[in-house]
Amino acid sequence: MNGSAGAIEGCYWQADRETREVSPALSGDIKVDVAVIGGGFTGLAAAYHLKAADPGLEIAILEAETAGFGASGRNAGFVMTLFGASVSLMKALHGKERVRQAHQYMVSAIAALEAMIGKHAIDCDYERTGFLKIATAPAYISRIQDEIELFQSLGIEDFEWLDRDQLAARIRSPVFLGASWEPGCGLLNPVKWLDALRRLACANGARLFEGTRVTEVQRENSLYRLTCDHGTVSAEKLVFATNAYTHLIPGMRSKQLPAFSYIVVTEPLSDNQRAEIGWAGREGIEDGLNFMHYYRLTQDDRILAGGGPGFIPFAGRMNNDACPKAWSHLERFIGETFPPLRGIRIAHRWGGAFSVTLNSTPQIGTLHGGSAIYSVGCTGHGVAMTHMNGRIIRDLVLGRNTELTDLWFVNRRSLPFPPEPFRAIGAKSVMAAMALDDWWCDRRREQQ
Ligand SMILES: Cc1cc2nc3c(=O)[nH]c(=O)nc-3n(C[C@H](O)[C@H](O)[C@H](O)COP(=O)(O)OP(=O)(O)OC[C@H]3O[C@@H](n4cnc5c(N)ncnc54)[C@H](O)[C@@H]3O)c2cc1C
Repeated sequence: MNGSAGAIEGCYWQADRETREVSPALSGDIKVDVAVIGGGFTGLAAAYHLKAADPGLEIAILEAETAGFGASGRNAGFVMTLFGASVSLMKALHGKERVRQAHQYMVSAIAALEAMIGKHAIDCDYERTGFLKIATAPAYISRIQDEIELFQSLGIEDFEWLDRDQLAARIRSPVFLGASWEPGCGLLNPVKWLDALRRLACANGARLFEGTRVTEVQRENSLYRLTCDHGTVSAEKLVFATNAYTHLIPGMRSKQLPAFSYIVVTEPLSDNQRAEIGWAGREGIEDGLNFMHYYRLTQDDRILAGGGPGFIPFAGRMNNDACPKAWSHLERFIGETFPPLRGIRIAHRWGGAFSVTLNSTPQIGTLHGGSAIYSVGCTGHGVAMTHMNGRIIRDLVLGRNTELTDLWFVNRRSLPFPPEPFRAIGAKSVMAAMALDDWWCDRRREQQ
């Protein structure tokens, strides 16, 4: 695996971390019931739920770098209901009923996350701020209103349209034309959430091995044999919780590809700056572009802004965490969105990879008759989803047929990505079409 070592130093959440526990690397040969590859939200949640369901299970979590090294330690911390890349794409691909089921799944994922925080008194700066999807050009007004109407036609009343004035009463920007308001969403500090999951999974008896890269997966006599740098693991069941790195594991190349997203965080806003832009409700915000921008306040009142033009590397190369062009774009974006903040100092810059499947739909699948489970394609919306996915993985590992394992995105037949260079040509064509659409909509905004 060509990792992206040294990539997360710029990350605000990592800098804000007070202490970090370190688990030893695997040394020697061990045998467990379940081996989990990947120590992000998915792997830790799966291990936590498995141990809670069956305390007798021997579980090893094998993490190549440190827990949270992937997207889990670098995301924006939006706890949201968006499933897959976009509502309109999900409807076009899977139909209205599946959009309804996916939304209900995400609502239950947020409820499960909040219940977990409450049950274990987890300090992860969780705030039920709600979520605004903002229209910054006329084309986005109708698209966002269509989404609200779609949900209403499905009996879902979780979204409300705010017109320009209603929105301005919450947050002021000359480019905001209206928004969809979804009160059921929240924000958290992803690294504090990650550290809590890690503690709870380990307290339940799962064993975490950091600095333990799995370099080979073999299957002999119904047992998996995983080769790591300084040891091996034999296991009856295997969970690939490797997200955007999954393609680097031999045999898993075509399941997903990594897409990079970049983030900047400003210095803390002064009281005057806060007063000028409003934002008393601290809502999480996204805009309506295909290459959406997402932004929020941190606990100490900095603006975290991410997104904009994304990047899909050739052959899934993972050494793309730094992107000065994307960071400059975000810096300009903050000034254009909030003119009183033009020129504000950027204190943190980083990037990371999320996982995309061929049809941009999250997928939990099984291999070898259910002995191995993988989870890919949470896109940039995996914070709440991964926690619930951990329960699906639990049920699949335990061989239970439940409402969760019956969900339409579990064990769905999916098309594999083609090999390079066709993959790159396809990805570039789709991204070019998305960028053209964004340019067209923004051009109409400029002509207003
Ligand atoms: C910049 C960015 C912003 C985002 N913002 C949000 C947001 O605001 N809200 C939201 O809902 N979602 C967001 N996401 C998406 C969300 O972070 C992910 O969906 C989620 O963290 C995925 O968790 P995971 O555990 O599946 O994967 P990861 O956190 O990527 O974990 C995979 C782990 O597997 C390890 N690994 C890989 N290969 C091996 C191997 N061979 N051996 C051992 N270990 C291995 C990696 O080191 C890594 O730690 C964002 C993503 C990015 C990149």
